[in-house]
Amino acid sequence: MNDQFLTELENIMAGSGIFMEEPMKKHTTFRVGGPADVLVQPDETALAAVLGLCRQHHVPYSFIGNGSNLLVGDKGIRGVVIEMTEPMGDIEVQGTRITAQAGAMLSKIANTAASNGLGGMEFAAGIPGSVGGAVVMNAGAYGGEMKDIIERVYVLDENGAQLELDRDALDLGYRHSCIPDKKYIVTKVVLELVPRDEAEIRSEMKELNEKRAEKQPLQYPSAGSTFKRPEGYFAGKLIMDAGLRGYQVGGAQVSEKHCGFVINKGDATAADICQLMRDVSDKVQAQFGVVLEPEVKMIGEF
Ligand SMILES: Cc1cc2nc3c(=O)[nH]c(=O)nc-3n(C[C@H](O)[C@H](O)[C@H](O)COP(=O)(O)OP(=O)(O)OC[C@H]3O[C@@H](n4cnc5c(N)ncnc54)[C@H](O)[C@@H]3O)c2cc1C
Repeated sequence: MNDQFLTELENIMAGSGIFMEEPMKKHTTFRVGGPADVLVQPDETALAAVLGLCRQHHVPYSFIGNGSNLLVGDKGIRGVVIEMTEPMGDIEVQGTRITAQAGAMLSKIANTAASNGLGGMEFAAGIPGSVGGAVVMNAGAYGGEMKDIIERVYVLDENGAQLELDRDALDLGYRHSCIPDKKYIVTKVVLELVPRDEAEIRSEMKELNEKRAEKQPLQYPSAGSTFKRPEGYFAGKLIMDAGLRGYQVGGAQVSEKHCGFVINKGDATAADICQLMRDVSDKVQAQFGVVLEPEVKMIGEF
């Protein structure tokens, strides 16, 4: 990354939303991760220009939303981290459709949906991610998933061309979409919702949020469920039955409240979390013959 690149990047960002040597622990819900060489928070216009510049100078780039499903390595991330956040957070309602830019938070969209008497987002109100990240992960909870409400998605491909993809083109499955494999960047999501009484929507959202608070260790930094649900099992129950409740490596711990969550007790490193995840996987496989696959995405240098 040479001076000319950095000067041009600063010009594109007009001096705001650009951070050098930015600690990624400030941008992940795990509160873990070394520095990104550069982190930018572009709006839609700046996004296209940043991508063009990175391609022109062969500088690597990566994407994050709210960092709620990420484990960033202790050595950080080389190149430019593009964070989809507030400047790409517009939400628009038209009839039963909501169009949201990738950086809009699910909680905010769910709240907008409720205020407009639109149901279907209740399951997602307590998931602490952006809608872009939620499409990539096909995020889901309490019997609902993004697949149920996505009508279409706008993405940029590797060459910067905009594509409009309908739901069936996204290959959505359990915590899976084709977006990472195709190296697409989600810029906008169109959701199709259904009319519902606002009071009913709010009461369901309240009930689900109370369930979360009761079952999940929300007072500690984490990335939610650490492992995917293996077919026919629950990861948390397997981990508990393997005697690993409260198991600790450095500052990382299998939550005593919910064994499916690895939590940061305050000073965990990515190395602690990786070691703990390996130990847990090995013990569960040895005892039950079940392979645990991480749900958390790992990026950067470890
Ligand atoms: C307390 C807690 C509870 C949780 N509960 C749930 C739950 O109930 N259900 C559930 O499914 N998840 C849950 N999660 C995990 C997480 O919130 C979801 O996976 C969420 O959808 C991730 O969104 P994000 O914006 O934080 O994405 P990030 O974590 O920032 O990124 C996730 C992946 O998407 C990619 N990405 C992000 N934005 C874009 C974009 N615009 N274009 C292309 N790629 C992009 C990133 O590169 C990365 O690979 C929970 C997490 C926490 C901390």
